[in-house]
Order: sequence, then C-alpha cells, then structure tokens
Amino acid sequence: MTKKTNTKAAKNQAPTATHSLAHLNVLISGASVAGPALALWLARYGARVTVLEKAPALRGGGFAVDFRGEVHRTVLRRMGIWDEVHRRQTHMGRQTLVEADDTERVDLPAFLMSGDVEIFRGDLSRILYEATEDRVEYIFGDSVASLTEDSEGVAVTFDRGAPRRFDLVVGADGLHSHTRRLAFGDESRYLRFQGYYVAGFDVPNHLGLDRTARIYSEPGRTLMLSNYGADPAVAGVGLVFDSERLDYDRHDVEEQKKILTDRFAGMGWPHAARALEGLESAGDLYFDAIAQIHVDRLSQGRVVLLGDAGYGATMGGIGTGTALVCAYVLAGELAAARGDHRVAYAAYEAEIRDYAKGCQKISGNAGPFLAPPTERKLRGRDRTYRVLSSRFVAGFFKKLTEKAASDLVLKDYAPCGDRAGRPGADYPSRNRQP
Ligand SMILES: Cc1cc2nc3c(=O)[nH]c(=O)nc-3n(C[C@H](O)[C@H](O)[C@H](O)COP(=O)(O)OP(=O)(O)OC[C@H]3O[C@@H](n4cnc5c(N)ncnc54)[C@H](O)[C@@H]3O)c2cc1C
Repeated sequence: MTKKTNTKAAKNQAPTATHSLAHLNVLISGASVAGPALALWLARYGARVTVLEKAPALRGGGFAVDFRGEVHRTVLRRMGIWDEVHRRQTHMGRQTLVEADDTERVDLPAFLMSGDVEIFRGDLSRILYEATEDRVEYIFGDSVASLTEDSEGVAVTFDRGAPRRFDLVVGADGLHSHTRRLAFGDESRYLRFQGYYVAGFDVPNHLGLDRTARIYSEPGRTLMLSNYGADPAVAGVGLVFDSERLDYDRHDVEEQKKILTDRFAGMGWPHAARALEGLESAGDLYFDAIAQIHVDRLSQGRVVLLGDAGYGATMGGIGTGTALVCAYVLAGELAAARGDHRVAYAAYEAEIRDYAKGCQKISGNAGPFLAPPTERKLRGRDRTYRVLSSRFVAGFFKKLTEKAASDLVLKDYAPCGDRAGRPGADYPSRNRQP
C-alpha cells in the first residue's frame, strides 16, 4: 500500500492502466453520496450500473458537508463536478454561541467550521444524480430482500421488484447498511454508539438569519438555528443531545419527532420553542445516533462496502470526502483488474483501509463537544471555542483534519486507451472541468 501525505508523489506516479468494464452488471444499494459517486465512475468505465434507493425519491436534507485538502480537490476535479460543487456551495458567515437571554457569548468565524468548499449534502447528492441519471438505472422505493451468491454472480430478490442477477453488489447504504446486514451480519457487530444523537430539519427563518447561525446549549443538549444563504426564507435547525442508546424504529419519523420533542422540552432559549414547533411539519428530518462503523473486512465474496456502510462516522466532517475518494479507488481498481472482483476488492481495501480509518479517527466523537454534558464542561467548551476562533489556532486545527483527508497517494487510473494517462481526459461527461 502506498500511503503518504506527499501529493507530489502522486503526480510523479505512472498511471495505472484500466480496462473496459462493459461486461459488468453492478448493483449499488444507496443513492446518497457514495452510491452515485461510484456509479459515475463505473459508468465511465463502461459498466451497466443500477442504483437502488429505499426512499421514494432522492433524499434532500442533512447539514452541510465539506471538502478539504489536495486529495479531495483532485477527486472532485477528476469526477468533473468541481465547478458545480463550487456553484452550489454554502456561504456561511459567523456562528454565535448565545446565552438563554440571547446575549452573545462567543463568536466563531466562518473559516473555523467549513473546509475548502462546503455544500449541503442534499445538493451534492443531486449533483451526482444529475451527472449520472442518463447513464445509470436508478430505482427508488425498493430494497434488496435477499442476496444469494454463486460462481457466476449474485441472485438478488427485492421487496417490490422482480428478481435479477448481478455480477457485483455494492453496499453504499449508509451507517445502518442493509447490504452489510445481509452479507456480513448484524449491525450490533459493527456499529459503535458514542452516546449522542443528532437531528436536522428546516423551519421558516423567523429570526431573519442571513448567512449566520445562533447556537444555544444547556448541559447535554444543543440547538442551532442557521441560514446558509441559499433560501432567505428557510432556517436549518440542528439538534444534538446526549443519551443512553435508544430503542426506536429508524423508519418511524413520528416516533423520532416525539423523542426530539421530549428531549428538548423546556429549553431556556426563547427561540428554541418556536424552532421545535416546526418539527411537526418538517418534511425531511434527519435523525441518527452519533456512531462509527468498524468492520473486519470490506468485502464478502462479490459484495463490497463503500462509504458510511464500511467506515462511517456520524458528524465526522470529512466522511463525505472519504466516500468520494474511496468510490474513485474502488472503481479504478475494478477497471485495473478487468472487473475481477477478487483482485479489485483486495486492492481497494489495501489502498483505502488506513486512509479511511485515519479519517474516522480524526473525526473522534463530536458529541461531547457539541453538547457538553455538564455546565462546567459547557463553559470549558466555550473557552476552547474562544481559543479556536483565533486564526492561528484555527489554522492548526484545520490542518489536522486536512492532513487526515490528504493522507493518501491517489493513483492515476488512466482512462481506457489513454496512454498518456491524463485522468478524466477522454471520459464522456456533462460536467467537464475546464
Ligand atoms: C438524508 C440524509 C441526511 C444526512 N445528514 C447528515 C448530517 O446532517 N450529518 C452527518 O454527519 N451526516 C449526514 N448524513 C450522512 C452523510 O451523507 C454520510 O456520512 C456521507 O456523505 C457518506 O455518504 P454515504 O452515501 O456513504 O451514506 P448516506 O449518506 O448515509 O446514504 C445512504 C443511502 O442509502 C439509502 N438506504 C438506506 N437503506 C437502504 C436500503 N435498504 N436499500 C437502498 N437504499 C438504502 C439511504 O436512504 C441513503 O440515501 C446524512 C445522510 C442522509 C441520507
């Protein structure tokens, strides 16, 4: 495995030859970020790709995600979505921690929170979908019911659709991956709960926030109201709370709303009650545990895990960039191995395992920092924020995450037939780079 922070080394590397994957028929479960990103690459290599999404349509919602460092930048460029991501980036300004009476306690400058470029997860997902929809089959509102592998491929049955066969199956269905459950075993073996929950939804922008956020914390719970500049009428609500592990139905949105209403009842900040009122009619609620996924291996026969399904970390900050980088590597290794999944999956795992682990590690557990459990820890958190808001210290802090995000020498998977090894040079794409 080649692993180093030196991005110059990548530029000097000989390109890795790739081959057409026209003979491959691949099923990807999950149409958020990792799934459509892999679909983009596999379709460019000529594979027939089906992306299956349980939700009835492409899911919006979620907080902003960001990209940082040379490796993320290179992958965005090679994917051909650099311009579009920049065009739809967020424009967050300062974020302010407030007291219960709304007086301002600490100001966090914009440069502290976002990476090189920040975008809403839902917008990124849509960009990837739009870049692939003409070349990739998308099926919404269905889920895999069973996977049966034989020497020729995988027989797949669905909850709704007719059974089909595929050469390979990719689980890009997130932290609670259904594919992982079917092929690797129960989630309890892989998911490490970190003692916190997080939620996000949109409400009317009652405070008239304009590219700013106001954050209010009480011991063990935090509520943030923000407007990132896209729609002046809409504010995002972010909630984080500490908790024992909750037993709830992840598909029952009403139950999740009730949990949130109970946990945030009686918050001292006057704007909290109004924000929570909006929960009732919130269309796209994101609610999940803060948790990490640790698997022993990323593939099982013809089934392989990508993104959060294999190495996820909620609120990790760089998990989305990791998913894009790993999608690039998985597709590249498949094309380099002429579609031989045994060779390609082993190479994918060797290439990205330490990288993905490093990104997970730097993510740590954001919960105690976002919603400190005691008044004393809360004041300590605020003091840390004050120190971090100095440009010098913030720069150091940002460099740490950037280092993890860049800690991989990216191979150049030369497009089939491009002997010069110019990455992406002869791929058909509607989102070409200048
Ligand atoms: C709506 C939404 C909001 C999010 N908001 C945040 C956030 O605010 N903060 C944060 O840290 N992370 C958030 N995430 C997770 C974040 O997108 C990932 O950490 C990261 O981008 C890696 O993406 P992924 O594609 O691997 O996984 P995910 O983004 O989790 O995507 C998994 C996809 O698989 C789909 N899926 C699940 N089960 C099945 C099934 N049985 N069959 C088919 N498809 C299935 C899901 O609907 C989803 O579209 C959110 C994810 C979603 C889907």
